[in-house]
Amino acid sequence: MSYWLSIVVATPSHSTVAGPLTYRSESLLPPGGLVRVPLGKREVLGVVWEVLADSGDLPLAQARSVLGALDGLAPLPEAWRGLVGFTAAYYQRSIGEVALAALPPQLRGLSAVQLARRLKRTPAADAETPDTTNLIALSPEQQRAIAEFDADTRPALLFGATGSGKTEVYLRAAAKVLAQDASAQVLVMVPEINLTPQLQARFEERFAHLGKAQVVALHSGLTPAQRLKSWLAAHAGQARLVLGTRMAVFASLPNLRLIVVDEEHDPSYKQQEGARYSARDLAVYRAMLESAPKDGGTDKAAVRCRVLLGSATPSLESWQATVTGRYQRLTMSERIGGEAGAGRLPLVRVVDMNHQPKNCTIAPPLLDAIGQRIARGEQSLIFLNRRGYAPVLACHDCGWKSECPHCSAYRVFHKIDRTLRCHHCGFTERVPRACPSCGNIDIAPVGKGTERLEEHIGELLAGVTRADGSLLRIARIDADTTRLKGALESQLASVHAGEVDVLVGTQMIAKGHDFRHITLVAAINPDNALFSSDFRAPERLFGLLMQAAGRAGRDADHGEASEMWVQTFHPQHPLFGALKKHDYPAFAAQELKEREAAGMAPFGFSALVRAEARTQDVAQGFLNAAAQAAQAQQLPAHDAVTPYPAVPMTIQRVANIERAQMLVESPSRAALQRFLAAWQPVLHETRQQAEFKSLIRWAIDVDPLAI
Ligand code: ADP
Ligand code: ZN
Ligand code: ZN
Repeated sequence: MSYWLSIVVATPSHSTVAGPLTYRSESLLPPGGLVRVPLGKREVLGVVWEVLADSGDLPLAQARSVLGALDGLAPLPEAWRGLVGFTAAYYQRSIGEVALAALPPQLRGLSAVQLARRLKRTPAADAETPDTTNLIALSPEQQRAIAEFDADTRPALLFGATGSGKTEVYLRAAAKVLAQDASAQVLVMVPEINLTPQLQARFEERFAHLGKAQVVALHSGLTPAQRLKSWLAAHAGQARLVLGTRMAVFASLPNLRLIVVDEEHDPSYKQQEGARYSARDLAVYRAMLESAPKDGGTDKAAVRCRVLLGSATPSLESWQATVTGRYQRLTMSERIGGEAGAGRLPLVRVVDMNHQPKNCTIAPPLLDAIGQRIARGEQSLIFLNRRGYAPVLACHDCGWKSECPHCSAYRVFHKIDRTLRCHHCGFTERVPRACPSCGNIDIAPVGKGTERLEEHIGELLAGVTRADGSLLRIARIDADTTRLKGALESQLASVHAGEVDVLVGTQMIAKGHDFRHITLVAAINPDNALFSSDFRAPERLFGLLMQAAGRAGRDADHGEASEMWVQTFHPQHPLFGALKKHDYPAFAAQELKEREAAGMAPFGFSALVRAEARTQDVAQGFLNAAAQAAQAQQLPAHDAVTPYPAVPMTIQRVANIERAQMLVESPSRAALQRFLAAWQPVLHETRQQAEFKSLIRWAIDVDPLAI
């Protein structure tokens, strides 16, 4: 007797085989089972999706057989399959692509023997009882947040100022779940694991009693073997606590009871290729799926998975959900340490650059304030969102500029190795000795990046010495200085050790780090985001500035005098008004009012279709033709959806490829979803037309972050 199974395999999204494939099997395999199947001439990993009644319309002669099951591995849980299916449908990709991308690649190459050995190697350690003797006493706000969280079932948003002790709340919530049920699992998600080594350390320390095998990490920095090991431990239920980045939202966790999403506003939760999912949104959806009655049961209250999002500057989507009551809001507005000294949020000083000496990079009063910090042995952090020495190199005689020949962007001047580097395509050349166009030898850097800022601050502070008379130390942290493995960790360590007086960097240093001796944070030039065409730019800027302010004055000894300086040509902008008062709710209310009036997220829903080709004509033509076809064919929900004409992307050409995009909007999420699902095949057909054969690729981005 043989059975018919529908099985998902990794199919490229643009192949015509997007759905599950039908295979024959000699044994009955359960949905979620991992199998090896033939695909073309290859043997690939697949996941059993459904057991079918018959072979459907597949001609028997074409039927192929399952080659084998991965014995010893439990089937992937029902909720996991539900999550994968939802992700594929919502983000307009194939189930196979999403499912297989969520599994560790090494699983595929594993023989039955290797797998058995692997599974044996992780012993189920008996958990010791946690050591609670050294637990810190919770603040009243923390106590209240935890009590409120326990008393509710909705997704929760912990709105807690930086330094208000959110991590402690996560730790307690996780501890409670793990203690209540010896098989319960907790997933803790963080934006970028190497930026938060302290958070990881705190979780590992707090749950040390569980043993090493039960607290595992899951992120892209792991070796394939480590990733497989963590994945297997989670899947087998041995790992009780999984700490990971966005990819971890797809971990197989049979007994998941709590998902924590730290810094839930962080853009890195959105995947930017393949299935462009939002791991934060999926975490909320997953918690709902995991709470549904299992295996047709009806006892809804028996198992429940909660989700706890946390941020000092929540995404406006999550914030609005707490306004409408869809999410529960937990507020912690005070820094640990209270009103006296350490607990206070830094004083925000907005410097009107219109009243400063022309062309000055650092306003004299700011320079003064930095000098005072140095004299007192305190640290300053200065950030600028631009790495390299200068964004452009230019000839003032003929007007030549360091354009990238392959992109519609300038190449950035890096002084350290005297190169011009394109930050979009990577094209790098040595700096020419003279202007390539007129021969003038006086080509000069225009504008400043972090490398030049570091040099400039060195010059400005040339006469300043430290309190003990020793030499001043300036350091820089950005993507260039941290390229080597371990570099970031060692640079951060030297900041923590007090070896640095002034730290210069990109937004990389403004996030999350628990700096103890920094009492001054300065944003040199944040104005670009105020007038960006991207409607989310102000939200990102406000979040970044609040985060950065949170770096200052975290230590009890220095809290009194901590300050955040912002240099701007638009000091009257309401964003700075809210920043001065550390008033996120005021900022959110203002911003949400504008979004509502304009029908933008979270009040409206959108998707971007991007197309790439050798010419803008082909890229834009393809998008416009597909939109016209949708109209002509009266696709479902087409009248509730507005497609805008195709336009070139902001950086229109990268590596000689022209890029265009089309925005599609709807006031209804469901209508947009119905339209997109119907539009997919039309886009595929349009691509087959002779005039668009040269199209390189196209992709849909649902709920895009940047427009
Ligand atoms: P957040 O994540 O909200 O920015 P943290 O959780 O990092 O804040 O807490 C800030 C600091 O306060 C940390 O050093 C933490 O150990 C400490 N802390 C947290 N809760 C308490 C508490 N109840 N009592 C004393 N210190 C605390
Ligand atoms: Zn010239
Ligand atoms: Zn380039």
